[in-house]
Amino acid sequence: MRDRLLALAESARREIGGASELSAVEALRVRYLGKKGELSGVLGGMGKLPPDERRSLGEVANSVKAELEKLLAEAVERAEAAALEAQLQGPGLDVTLPGRGVALGSRHPVSRTMEEIVRTLSRLGFDVASGPEIELDYFNFEALNLPKDHPARDMQATFYVDEATLGHAKKADSSVLLRTHTSPVQVRYMLNRKPPIRAVMPGRVYRRDSDITHTPMFHQVEGLLVDKGVTFAELKGSLAAFVTAFFGSDTRTRFRPSFFPFTEPSAEVDITCTNCAGKGCRICKQTGWLEVLGSGMVHPNVFTSAGYDPNEVTGYAFGMGVERIAMLRYRIDDLRMMFENDARFLEQF
Ligand SMILES: [Zn+2]
Repeated sequence: MRDRLLALAESARREIGGASELSAVEALRVRYLGKKGELSGVLGGMGKLPPDERRSLGEVANSVKAELEKLLAEAVERAEAAALEAQLQGPGLDVTLPGRGVALGSRHPVSRTMEEIVRTLSRLGFDVASGPEIELDYFNFEALNLPKDHPARDMQATFYVDEATLGHAKKADSSVLLRTHTSPVQVRYMLNRKPPIRAVMPGRVYRRDSDITHTPMFHQVEGLLVDKGVTFAELKGSLAAFVTAFFGSDTRTRFRPSFFPFTEPSAEVDITCTNCAGKGCRICKQTGWLEVLGSGMVHPNVFTSAGYDPNEVTGYAFGMGVERIAMLRYRIDDLRMMFENDARFLEQF
């Protein structure tokens, strides 16, 4: 049995010495030292030997096992080093090539513009507020002086939400929708607070509209100021300050009468064309002016919805489309580019 053990050690030494690949070394480990390996096979009959012989054979077996383990470990190192060397010498790897560049992301022009609008208004003392994009008809329309039969609802082609998808029992008339403007945030914000209020509300809004100048989803920023004795003159002053801070000190504003159900009186705000400074060009259709904001004094009915007494407080609100402002700011002439996620376009910002 001792002879078989020594013969096994001899052949194992030779084979391990000749193994050059990791897989071959592993196969030898299993063959000689594995549970069903040759060493176990030789030692299987040891139990029948007299105690003296068993002990001395046990010593030999342990030393053979230790030696083979050491040889196998060395063979693994050799095989790994050889594999690395082969990779370095091979045609596929040139260690002198420069490393792969890490591409830096950049902010989307819409996000950048929205952040800048909010930052500019924050400097004028406005806090930032937000609200849900899936909104109740009540906050999106009724609380903003747009009852169910109001014709101005047609101005906003609405996406209604099938209430079954929300897990609610379906009601006769749809009362859940994707908000068509950020104005419902005004009502929610006022409901939770007492005046004075100065808040700016940025966010996504949705309308069933899709052509060169409309997308089904776009961004708005809205502002609201409520206090005792707020006047239209303050609205004009604040918006003029915002416009010069945002578009540059040479920019002038003009107010045109308009209609929004939730403000009275209402006005659209134009600024001198950012492209031609008022001389007239293709972008401003030769008028020298660009329409950028809607605004007005908060309608008394909106105050009533929010639980405020319209005889005690007044306020103004204004809103703007972020995509339109971004297009003017960065001279982008096609709205759709904002949403195509073309890296060549986005990398420019
Ligand atoms: Zn122009």
